[in-house]
Amino acid sequence: MSQKITGVKGMNDILPGDVEVWQHVERTTRELFSLFGYGEVRTPMVEDTALFVRSVGETTDIVGKEMYTFEDKGGRSLSLRPEGTAPAARAYIEHSVANQEPVTRWFYMGPMFRYERMKTGRYRQFHQIGAEGYGSKEPAQDVEMMDMVVQLLLKLGLTDVSLNINSLGDDACRPAYQTRLVEHLRAHASELCSDCQVRLEKNPLRVLDCKNERCQQIASAAPNILESLCEPCRAHFAEVQRKLDALEIKYVVNPRIMRGLDYYTRTTFEFIAAHPVLGTASTVGGGGRYDKLVKSLGGPDVPAVGFGLGLDRLCLLLKESGQQFGRATDLFIAVADEGSADAGFTLTSRLRREGFRVEFDTRGGSLKSQMKRADKVGAVFTLVLGEAERQSGQAQLKRMAGGDPTPVRLDELAQTLRTALKAH
Ligand code: ATP
Ligand code: MG
Repeated sequence: MSQKITGVKGMNDILPGDVEVWQHVERTTRELFSLFGYGEVRTPMVEDTALFVRSVGETTDIVGKEMYTFEDKGGRSLSLRPEGTAPAARAYIEHSVANQEPVTRWFYMGPMFRYERMKTGRYRQFHQIGAEGYGSKEPAQDVEMMDMVVQLLLKLGLTDVSLNINSLGDDACRPAYQTRLVEHLRAHASELCSDCQVRLEKNPLRVLDCKNERCQQIASAAPNILESLCEPCRAHFAEVQRKLDALEIKYVVNPRIMRGLDYYTRTTFEFIAAHPVLGTASTVGGGGRYDKLVKSLGGPDVPAVGFGLGLDRLCLLLKESGQQFGRATDLFIAVADEGSADAGFTLTSRLRREGFRVEFDTRGGSLKSQMKRADKVGAVFTLVLGEAERQSGQAQLKRMAGGDPTPVRLDELAQTLRTALKAH
C-alpha cells in the first residue's frame, strides 16, 4: 500500500454535513450586506509581501511571525494574504475607484493564512467575512459597519456576543498618550513577556492587548486612552455612541480594545462571544477606522473603516446552537425490479428539473436496501416504482414518517408532490 498523504497542519477540510452551516452563514451575509448596499470584491489569495509589511506593519505578529511568505519563480517575494483590508485597499487604489465614486462600500469573504499555533478556533487557513467603507470620515459610517455585524449576528441567531468599542485617537492626541503609556510600561518592563518588551520599544499600544496574564495585569493599570483624546476625537467617539444608542445597539466602552494591526485611528471595535466552544478564541471579529491607510499605500487621501469576522468561529458557534441547515430530500424513488430502473432514473431526473430534491440509488439493489438508504438520506416521501406502477401509470406516495400513502398518477407526480410537501 502506498503511503497516505495528509492535509497541511492547521488547514481544514469542510465536508458535507458541516458545509451547510458555512453555506448558511455565507448566504445570510450576502443577502444582508446587499441590503446595506455593499458590493462583493474578490482579490487574489496572494499579494506582494510589501503590501502587508507597509500596511499591517512589521512589528505586528501577523507580519513579524505569521505570514506565509515565499519567493516565486521570478524571484518576487509573495505572501498568502493574512487579512483582507490591505488587499482591498490595494485594489481600491489600483482601479482608481475614488475617481469614480465618492463613497465605496465593499465586502469580501474567503480564506486567510497565518502561521499560528493551532487550537480551537485558531487555524492556519481560516476564513474571514470582511467589509470596507471608503470615503466617509463620519461616525455614521463607523456605526453602519457595526450595525451590519449586529444584524448579521441577529439573523444567525447568535445573541450571546457583545460589542466592545474604543477610540485610539489620532495623530493629534495619540503621541502624548503613547508617551504616558510608555512611562507606565517602562516601570514594569522586566515583568512584561518577551514579545511585549519588543512592543514596548516598537509599538507600545499593542502591549495593551497582549494575551499574557501578567501583561494584562500591567495593562489594566495603564493610563486610559479615552482620557487623552483630543476634542475632535472625543466628539467623534461621543457621536459613535449616540448613534449606537439611537439604533438601540448595546455596547461596552472598553479602552483596552487596541486591535492587532498598525493602521487603526479613532474608532476600534470587537465582537466577543461568551460561548465556551471557542475557548480562548472568543473574539469573533473586530474592526475600526483607518483614515490614513489608503494614502499610506500610495492612494488618495481617503478615509476608511472596516471589519473582519472569523467565519470559522461563527460556524463553531452556530453548530453549537443546534439549528439544522440545508435542504431535506423531498422524495426517494425506489425501484422494485431491474426492469423499472430506467423509468425510475428518468422520473428522478424529470422531477429534479422541476426543482425537487430527489434521490435515487444508482446502484439498484434490493428494495429493502433502497428503503434503508431513503431513511439514511432523510427523505420526506418515497415512491416505489415496479412493473405494476409502470403499467397502470399509478403509484403510492408514502410519507417516511408514517401515515396512509397517497395514490398518485405518475404524470401528475410533480403537482401532487408539491401539494404534499406544502402540507408537510
Ligand atoms: P486574535 O486576537 O484571536 O488572534 P486577531 O486580532 O489576530 O485575533 P483579526 O486580525 O482582527 O484577528 O481578524 C479578525 C477575526 O478573524 C478574528 O476576530 C477571528 O475571529 C478571526 N481570526 C483571526 N485569526 C484567526 C485564526 N488563526 N483562525 C481562525 N480565525 C481567526
Ligand atoms: Mg491573531
